[in-house]
Amino acid sequence: MRDFSEDHSMLALNTASLGHNLPGQGAGWSTEQVIEACAERGFGAISFWRQEINPKKAVQIGNKVRATGMQVCGLCRTPFLTGPFALPTQEDILDDMYRAIDMAHDLGTDVLTIVTGGVIEDSHSITQSLQRVSELVSLSLPKAKQAGVKLTLEPLNPVYAGNRSCLVTVRDAINICEEIDDPFVAIAVDVYHVWWDTDLANQLQRAGQKRIASYHLCDWLADTNDVLLDRGMMGDGVANLKAIRQAIEGAGYQGFCEVEIFSANDWWKRNPAEVLDVMVERFRTVC
Ligand code: ZN
Repeated sequence: MRDFSEDHSMLALNTASLGHNLPGQGAGWSTEQVIEACAERGFGAISFWRQEINPKKAVQIGNKVRATGMQVCGLCRTPFLTGPFALPTQEDILDDMYRAIDMAHDLGTDVLTIVTGGVIEDSHSITQSLQRVSELVSLSLPKAKQAGVKLTLEPLNPVYAGNRSCLVTVRDAINICEEIDDPFVAIAVDVYHVWWDTDLANQLQRAGQKRIASYHLCDWLADTNDVLLDRGMMGDGVANLKAIRQAIEGAGYQGFCEVEIFSANDWWKRNPAEVLDVMVERFRTVC
């Protein structure tokens, strides 16, 4: 396992951790300020959210990140493919999927995160919903390959199965990868969503290095009061962070470790400079 105790060059910021710069959330730092603050602290990469990026400026922002010596390690995310929040038609979904792929390409990242969307309404069937996810990923694949962007399936914690993600286990994510069997379909592993899974190490072995595109860090607070917006900073919760990293690196993953903390009432209310400093310290000591 890699030793990060004196080296955080593989630490990445997912900008969700600063409240996305969305009106009313976070400190409202500009993208440029975020890039500079991460570079100053020696972060290795940044992962952005689409809503923060003006599509016409994506190339420029990607170049700005690389000019500091960092990389863009991902873009969140595609439209929901299934469930109550999905766009009404397949054409709408694919159009938006293609816009997401274009933005990832323009930013210069090869990782585009897919949050699948919940169970298909009135289907009462996770299986049927996952089949639909697989179909839509397959339909998007030619465009993704052309752009050099990996469609990266992120299984979410099962608490979201109803409305946000019918994909809730690493096992099912790898099943879709195996079914499509293309190097441009991969998975993202997020501590928040997998920490409870006693079969995680076995499943990651199944995935292997080629199918693991991204690793997301945070913690699960034992007394969490909101499953969407009360994620913990690494070390403040109950997840076994070192064991999870050992499992993912045991499967061959050597990429960035991206801190992604949605925390409306705690971390999003703090000064981003403090948040970034704490991330560095926790990354070196508890991850
Ligand atoms: Zn994540």
